Amino acid sequence: MKRNRWKKIAKLGLVLAAAASMLAGCGGIAENTGEVSSRYRENTGSGTGDEIEVRDGSEIPGYDGEPYIVLDGNEPSFTESEITEDSFESYSELDELGRCGAACASVGQEIMPTEERGRIGQVRPTGWHTVKYDFVDGKYLYNRCHLLGYQLTGENANEKNLITGTRYLNVDGMLPFENMIADYVKETENHVMYRVTPVYEGDDLVASGVEMEGYSVEDEGEGICFHVFCYNVQPNVEIDYSTGESRLAEDTSGLEPEKDGAAAEYILNTNTRKFHRPECSGVKAMKESNKETFTGSREELIEMGYEACGQCKP
Ligand SMILES: [Zn+2]
Repeated sequence: MKRNRWKKIAKLGLVLAAAASMLAGCGGIAENTGEVSSRYRENTGSGTGDEIEVRDGSEIPGYDGEPYIVLDGNEPSFTESEITEDSFESYSELDELGRCGAACASVGQEIMPTEERGRIGQVRPTGWHTVKYDFVDGKYLYNRCHLLGYQLTGENANEKNLITGTRYLNVDGMLPFENMIADYVKETENHVMYRVTPVYEGDDLVASGVEMEGYSVEDEGEGICFHVFCYNVQPNVEIDYSTGESRLAEDTSGLEPEKDGAAAEYILNTNTRKFHRPECSGVKAMKESNKETFTGSREELIEMGYEACGQCKP
């Protein structure tokens, strides 16, 4: 019964896919057809001879309110020769702009970490800015975001494994997939082929998102099988991906986002008189006719007679 759980989570993405009709199982790995490979271009920057594939970000549809979308009918594109029960991890050399490329692993218990994670603050990925917004979980817009999650490979302060990623990418986009793999490997002692490829548009220093592929080896994708793209966005923040600079979306006040008590964006329910963080699940459930966007301080809202949501605690 346990195994069904993995399957269920792995297929979650399919529900979100526009092309849900491609729900044909993942029993066989996708053949590396010309069609798939033509959508990649070689990353020639590093010159290491490693096979690095970088998806051209311009082909990914824009963010539309979900942390990730399904690619290629949820079929990962590992080739037969790539799939192995021998644990490994590999990282691309940084390109000429200092950006990370694809990171790949066969995740098994042998390479999972046994120690607490150490500090990574000394690594400065491309496009990095230390910037806070009141409404971001943990306040900081950007996290040093592991391509291969620390919980999977124990790889920590490796500059080839850390990108500038939003909190939203880290927590809402990537983490559920990492947790799924970690749980599966711990429980089954199987291996999972796992590849994370940051996707940049042109010479952008901040990735538009990451392509993530997972495929469980011993059971041929029955336990884990996904191919998704997670957006490197933060709701209500506009990011300049060429530099990593950011600002409040629909900024009308010119306020500095770093300042405490600065205006933030809230979503009001004009019916219940509650106010929410924009990312609160309560907002999704809200009737459009009761929904109102408010930019200002929480004090102003309380003065207006609004009450903070108990779930998102704005
Ligand atoms: Zn809420």
